[in-house]
This record gives sequence, C-alpha cells and structure tokens, in this order.
Amino acid sequence: MRMRALVLVWLGLVGVAPGCGGAARGGALAGAPREGDLTEPAVDDAQLRPDTFGYGAHGRELAVVGCDAPLEYALGTIDPRFGLGRKQALAALARAAARWERAAGRPMFRYSPRSAFTIDFVFDERQEMMNARLAGRDDVAEVRRRHAALAAEHDAALAAYEVRRQAYEATVATWNQQGGAPPDDKRALDAEKQRLRAEQARLDGMLPRLEALAFFINSRGRTPDPTDYPHLLAGETTRVAHGATMTTLHVDIFMFRSWDGLAFVLAHELGHSLGMDHVVSEDAIMYGPPASAAPSADDHVELARVCPAAR
Ligand SMILES: [Zn+2]
Repeated sequence: MRMRALVLVWLGLVGVAPGCGGAARGGALAGAPREGDLTEPAVDDAQLRPDTFGYGAHGRELAVVGCDAPLEYALGTIDPRFGLGRKQALAALARAAARWERAAGRPMFRYSPRSAFTIDFVFDERQEMMNARLAGRDDVAEVRRRHAALAAEHDAALAAYEVRRQAYEATVATWNQQGGAPPDDKRALDAEKQRLRAEQARLDGMLPRLEALAFFINSRGRTPDPTDYPHLLAGETTRVAHGATMTTLHVDIFMFRSWDGLAFVLAHELGHSLGMDHVVSEDAIMYGPPASAAPSADDHVELARVCPAAR
C-alpha cells in the first residue's frame, strides 16, 4: 500500500500520490476463487455489464466530497489473469468499505459505476509470482533472470532519463537568464516536461516490481505469509493536489493472496482514498506494512483527523 505523494519540485509539479504496497492477509487462497466465498454486493447484474465500466478514468479528476457525503467509487478494469470476477471484486470492496463505516458509524463509500474514481486490478510480476508461489511452481532461476533483466532495463532507462532531465533543466536555466523563452521554445520545453514526467512515473512503477521479484527470490520455499510481505507492493492510491485539497484519482491493486487479504488491501487503499496516512501501530489497517483486519485505536485517530465528525 503505497500512497504516492511525490512532490516534483524541480518540475513544479503537483504531487502524484501513489498508493501503498499492501499486505494481503488471511488464509491462503486454495485453488480457484469461488463466488460463494464472498458476500454478494448489493448491485444488480444490469449494472455489471462491461460497457458500464468503459471509463478511461485514469487522470480524470474527481472532486473529493470529503466526509460529508460518501465517497463514490467505480470498479475499473480487472486483468483477467487475476481470475477475479467483478462481483467478487465488488463484494471485497463492500467488505473493505464496511470496516471504515463501522468505525465511523455512518456510510462513507458508495459504489457508483459512473464515478471517475476507479479501483483497477493491474497484473504484473507481483501477482504472477504470488500465483506461482501458491501453486508451488516457483522457478527461482527464472525469477532471478527476470529480476536481473528488469533491473538492467530500469538502470538504463534511468540513466537516459537523467541525461534528458539535466538537458531540460540547463535549457530552462539558460532561457530564464534571458528573461524567458520564445513561444515555440516554451512549447517544446513544456512538451519535454510532460514526457519527462511520464518517464519518471514509468521508472517509479518499476521499483515495486523489482522489489516483488526480490521478495519472491529471498522468500523461496516459504508460503507467502502476511508478515513476510514487503511494504508498498500490494496496492497504490493515486491522489493529486489542488492547492490545499487532495483529490483521489484511482486505486490500483497489484497483489493479494486470499480473499481476506484482498479485503484488507482494499480497506487500506480506501483509507488512503479518504486522505488517511500511515500510522505507526502494527495492529492498524493503516500501518504501512501488513496489518490488521479491524480498525485500531490509531486508525480511529487517523480517521477522525480526515473526517472530524467520525466517532
Ligand atoms: Zn499505504
């Protein structure tokens, strides 16, 4: 569970607040998930047609309503390799939301298919390695090879990025000394700034994948345990600042090992989507590393900070 709040001072960017690597908790997922494992959410099938969810909501801004009204969320895309149905995902979301709602004593989230705030399931090495580990199909040599390849790709891309960034900064500094750039040069610089920003996000996104590969190498032979999880891998909440206010753009889920674990990761990310930060006690949902299924005293304090009326 990561909460990305990069403040890219050098570009004068607002912070992109990525989420959190989260920890899945609970019993191991044995075999294929069964619908019966989850409580059905209160949505009718007509709402679950795929075309209902055809939003490319990433990057769209959502006015956060704070805690005066429930935060509306939609289910975005679920990579089929998760083997997770939409109803199952919605049921897990409902369970996750209920944890905060019980703590607050009132509704805090509402499923709304047209909301610009989406929860997406993004498949990469993290869940791939988790699936292999759970199925007993670990191939450490292969994982090592992939880690080395991804690390080399990252390092080369980072070096190229640094060269471009320094060239950009040097050009900006030169123009600033001359009182500003002509319009054509300004446009070119703005375009380069956007490309650099995108590349930085791509490079940032490779780090938790590398961390996950390293985790699965180092923990070989063990069933992934919630207490083993590396931080900041399972989920990510992206928020963006507008002056003093933050808007939640989307939650990405990358890894879970059980249905209980999925509900936990979602609860943690939904906490971030409200603006909650990590807390220090290890028994908290909002603890950075794998943590609790129920809100702890620290969770209540943090919840009251972002939602003062919550009891
Ligand atoms: Zn987090």
